[in-house]
Parts: sequence; structure tokens; C-alpha cells
Amino acid sequence: MKCFTHQVDSVGICKSCNKAVCSECAVDTGRGLACSDFCVEELNDINVIMDKSKQIYGIGNDSKLPPTGILMYMFFAAAFIGFGVYQTILKGRPDYFLFVMGTGFLVVGGLAWYRNRKLNINC
Ligand SMILES: [Zn+2]
Ligand SMILES: [Zn+2]
Repeated sequence: MKCFTHQVDSVGICKSCNKAVCSECAVDTGRGLACSDFCVEELNDINVIMDKSKQIYGIGNDSKLPPTGILMYMFFAAAFIGFGVYQTILKGRPDYFLFVMGTGFLVVGGLAWYRNRKLNINC
């Protein structure tokens, strides 16, 4: 393939705009080649987006702790069920609303956890 600008043999492809670049116009950003200052900036922005996404989805994160989203479900499940048990003892009859809410949070939290595992993400 020839360089998009110089009509000499290319050494790679700009990671931002996908134009072929020669050794003269290629800028090595360390995370891919760029063809111009504009594309270097674009590439830096793309890399920031990639890094943030990795953090958000917990990609490459080996932590075995449950992610905050699932902890939230578990917290509400524990709060509703705990309060449900407390109300049951207090009133002498079960408070179904609290148990249904608690079980709902437990089920949704479990599904979220299962989905995280399946997609190999951690959020
Ligand atoms: Zn480019
Ligand atoms: Zn060139």
C-alpha cells in the first residue's frame, strides 16, 4: 500500500482515520500510529475513552470483591429482609411487602452478578 499523502510505500495505517502512512509522516503515539497532529489528538481522546471504559467495566481487574452495583442490590436485600424479620417479630405476623422487596433485590442482584460473570466484566 502507498502512503496517502506521499505516494511512497507505507509502513502502517493511522489508527484514527485509517489512511496509510509512510515512515516520514507516521507519528508513533506509543499506542498506534497517527498521520497528523489532529489524528494524534483524536487517538489520545480514543485512548482516554478506552481506558475509562476498561475501568468502568472492570476489564483486567482481578478483584474478587463484588462490584459496587451488586453490593448495592445486596445492601437493599439485606435491609428489606432484615427489617422484615424485625417487623415479623414485633407484630407477630410476617410483613410480606418487605420480604417480597428483599427477595426482589436478591434475585435482581443475583442476575446482575451472573451477567457480570458471563460477560467477564466487573461493574
Ligand atoms: Zn489520521
Ligand atoms: Zn507519508
